[in-house]
Amino acid sequence: MIEFADALKSSRAYNLIKHDIDTGNLSHAYMVISPDTLALNNLFEIVACAVYCKDDACLACTTCHRILHGNHADVKFINSDNKNLKVEDVESLIDDTGTRPFESDHKLYFVFSADKMNAAAQNKLLKTLEEPQKTVTIFLGVSRESAMLDTVKSRTKKITLDRFSQEDISSALKEEGFPSDSAETAAACADGMLGRAKEIAEDKSFAENYAQTVNVFKNLKKSGDVASFLNEKVLDKERLPVFLDIASLIVRDMMAAKTDERLITNRRTAEEVKEMSREYSLLALSNILYLINEERKKLNVYVSSVGVAENLLLGILEVKYKCR
Ligand SMILES: [Zn+2]
Repeated sequence: MIEFADALKSSRAYNLIKHDIDTGNLSHAYMVISPDTLALNNLFEIVACAVYCKDDACLACTTCHRILHGNHADVKFINSDNKNLKVEDVESLIDDTGTRPFESDHKLYFVFSADKMNAAAQNKLLKTLEEPQKTVTIFLGVSRESAMLDTVKSRTKKITLDRFSQEDISSALKEEGFPSDSAETAAACADGMLGRAKEIAEDKSFAENYAQTVNVFKNLKKSGDVASFLNEKVLDKERLPVFLDIASLIVRDMMAAKTDERLITNRRTAEEVKEMSREYSLLALSNILYLINEERKKLNVYVSSVGVAENLLLGILEVKYKCR
């Protein structure tokens, strides 16, 4: 089942590829870049349909159905579970490109998470990219461009799947059946990524974590309060990374409230955030943002999450006092 089809079909990346298909100018290889793996995977499935479907990748006709169920002889999805790709996987892809198309005049290969190929596997693939066949197009889905060899990059047409706007993500989630309050919060926190947004919308504890994080900024007044806040669920070992993410977002929204309200990302908490921001100076907020990042780094090294949480809360109070 294709997720987020409407949002993906209106993306710039899809329309660039669609233009190549419609004008008969499909390149021999594409590298499509996005950290949003879920969006990339779905985009590739839609692109496959766009090549063979008579009705603009309708996703509903027999041809589309066969492609989406892996039953079209000329479409191959490789590594669709986004694991590491080995030299053998690339070798079997290359062998397959040597055979003629079976039910059309063009064969398509979609390699998911192609940046998980090691250098040996990429070098293997390079040969095929250097001597392209007219009847073959290879799509590489890449989340980290830096993991790709320059030689491979230079042999592919590079397209970036742009981040999605908050409005697009929110309506895409609603179309997928998520209730509007969780869709809107998820869209505000997803950093433009559909996959991240879906994870957040599916996470039942996210709204609770969000509310508890707001509560910390609202009610943390003196160092005597710190001990009781450390008992909050959102500050326990497991949820602390989520707390840090949400805290960054809230601090940024408070900064927006003080400078340009149009830049507030989470509209649902806008009024609350405006109110809270009166307690903090702009300098205090930018220092707090810095503190959050510093404590996040420690979290990767330190074992004690309590230490990190305590340090952060005391740091927030100190900065708030110093930068009045
Ligand atoms: Zn179709």
